[in-house]
Amino acid sequence: MHRQFFVIDGHCDTLSKLDDINNLEYRSNNHVSLSGLYKGKVAIQFFAAWIDPSSPGSCLHRELQLIKRYKRMLDRYAAHFCPVLCLADAEDAFNVGKIGTLLTVEGGDVLEGRLSNLETLYNAGVRLLTLTWNRSNQIAGAAMDDQKRYGLTSFGIEVVKRMNALGMIIDISHASEEAFWDVIEVSEQPVIASHSNAKAICPHPRNLDDGQIRAIAAKGGVVGINFYPLFLSKTGDAGIIDIIKHIEHIAGVAGTDCVAFGSDFDGIEALPQGIEGPQSFPDIIEEMLKLNYSEEDVKKICHNNFLRVMEKVLK
Ligand SMILES: [Zn+2]
Repeated sequence: MHRQFFVIDGHCDTLSKLDDINNLEYRSNNHVSLSGLYKGKVAIQFFAAWIDPSSPGSCLHRELQLIKRYKRMLDRYAAHFCPVLCLADAEDAFNVGKIGTLLTVEGGDVLEGRLSNLETLYNAGVRLLTLTWNRSNQIAGAAMDDQKRYGLTSFGIEVVKRMNALGMIIDISHASEEAFWDVIEVSEQPVIASHSNAKAICPHPRNLDDGQIRAIAAKGGVVGINFYPLFLSKTGDAGIIDIIKHIEHIAGVAGTDCVAFGSDFDGIEALPQGIEGPQSFPDIIEEMLKLNYSEEDVKKICHNNFLRVMEKVLK
């Protein structure tokens, strides 16, 4: 495994699985561990702070508590982790051999309908917002919400514009199709789907159709391949070859510049055969090389495409 194929993973839910002592040692029921990140040559891991919007209590308050947990994790693993707030932080992390961490928020419910809360999150170090989770919210309709179907609300339009101005990455994974197209129209910056796959290969409502994939590519964004077996194959019986099938399809439809990884580790209850956690990235890479992907394309998929988005969007 060559050092040159280091990985940027655009989505994991590990923060929700950390216990009070922020233990990232290997445990068989968790996907992401410190040793797994090193073995997988993960150079930057995006950590999503997700709270259940339907649980009692202020969404923002609970979100900020989870962000405190993220900061305790950074303190505990200061010798290994380096928070990424801008591209220079990512370069610093590479240079000293640490793993860069990028803090994201999954679900715009935490804004509680106030633009000022977006700045609170930005100031807390958040550099990416997934506009919705499974339930439609004040910003936009959600792909999995059959009750309420809508696009970006007028508040959502303000959120997208402010994210452009602040230098935050807009993530449309989980958003409704209507919201997706509204975001494409309103955003002046690349838009990403941090953890979604191709509908043409697996027709799940969380996946993207070819038109959406082309629109993301045209704006300079990326689609992070999600490893959830039910987003990879109709039957849920999936392996590394199914991950490759989605890479192939997305690359075929819109080019290799828009393909990336967004594993969803620790957010999914099952893994494809042959995948155990970030330590399995080298096996996916090996498979791509066996299939004669050029080294340049593999580097794009592993990290260069995400680096391009970060360079364009982050201030
Ligand atoms: Zn998700």
